[in-house]
Amino acid sequence: METRILKINSEDIDGEAIEKAGALIREGELVAFPTETVYGLGGDALNPEASRKIYRAKGRPSDNPLIVHISRFEDLKPLVKEVTEDVGRLMEAFWPGPLTLILKKSGLVPEETTGGLPTVAVRMPSHPVALSFIAAAGGYVAAPSANVSGRPSPTKAVHVMEDLGGRIPLILDGDDSQIGLESTILDMTAGVPTILRPGYITQDMLQKVLDQVETDPSLLRPDCKEPPRAPGMRYRHYAPRGELTVVEGAPAAVIACINDLTRKARSEGKRTGVLGTKETEKEYAADSIKSVGERRDEEAIARNLYRLLREFDEEGTDVIFSESFHGGSLGQAVMNRLLKAAGYRVHKVHSLKSEE
Ligand code: AMP
Ligand code: MG
Repeated sequence: METRILKINSEDIDGEAIEKAGALIREGELVAFPTETVYGLGGDALNPEASRKIYRAKGRPSDNPLIVHISRFEDLKPLVKEVTEDVGRLMEAFWPGPLTLILKKSGLVPEETTGGLPTVAVRMPSHPVALSFIAAAGGYVAAPSANVSGRPSPTKAVHVMEDLGGRIPLILDGDDSQIGLESTILDMTAGVPTILRPGYITQDMLQKVLDQVETDPSLLRPDCKEPPRAPGMRYRHYAPRGELTVVEGAPAAVIACINDLTRKARSEGKRTGVLGTKETEKEYAADSIKSVGERRDEEAIARNLYRLLREFDEEGTDVIFSESFHGGSLGQAVMNRLLKAAGYRVHKVHSLKSEE
């Protein structure tokens, strides 16, 4: 199948192009589209065959449910058993935007879309192209990130082409994703509202709207015995093809350690990469050195992370060493993705002398 990329100007949306993309979804086809978080691979959320196609195109396990995207507040009600006051408050505060709510599903939503679960994940994105496209598609677009399962999520239309070219008919190009990390997922079905995946909307922000918000313990401790409650968080994810290791510790010790590890890998004939910051990039010696941005600019770090991991792949990097990016409000979301991408391979240094 030939895959077309159609550029859409967010400030002057081409209604005819959007109508064509919407018609493809209504016919049961798949279309990749831009959102403010990452690019999504969309299909009709109410059509079980479209959901099956999404799983096939991505190579995604079919027990990993999809997020249903809507374009109007009033479209939530038919999808769910109940819209509580708390849910209403969250919608007012954070929609359209990067917050996904898990709610008890109605009979309208097929189990193919929810991976067999009695609950449904719903989000209203803020990207203007996404909103027009969802409306043209009939109002309910199931969409996981538009990458092949396991790879870093796409933040540019060309990333989608790399992964899904030849498998889907159309990619809407709405420029680079502004946020660059997937939405925050908040479970509203079990007692205290619980964050199942950290994202741009933080626990602090949610607590300004709801009395109590918890974080799934498996997110705070990767060695936690309890499995994560978002099925997708159980899988290896976001990973580059090269072997990624995160190095943690005092800044000077991290630099020294990464340089040691790089020298060793190079002596073994490996192509090496380092992921650092604007402040530290000049301190490294590796085949490819990339900066996520200034350390204090967390939004830039979130926006650049997946793109840089993909660039290491394009360059054929065998081993990648990354600084860690804890701290700040987005730090939890960034580190959640980075540690998963590294398969939790972490090298801790306590002093200038490195140790495992
Ligand atoms: P992606 O679309 O690639 O961003 O992944 C969607 C994420 O939402 C995955 O981690 C899913 O496991 C999670 N998710 C979707 N629906 C549900 C649900 N009903 N309950 C819990 N997690 C969900
Ligand atoms: Mg994904």
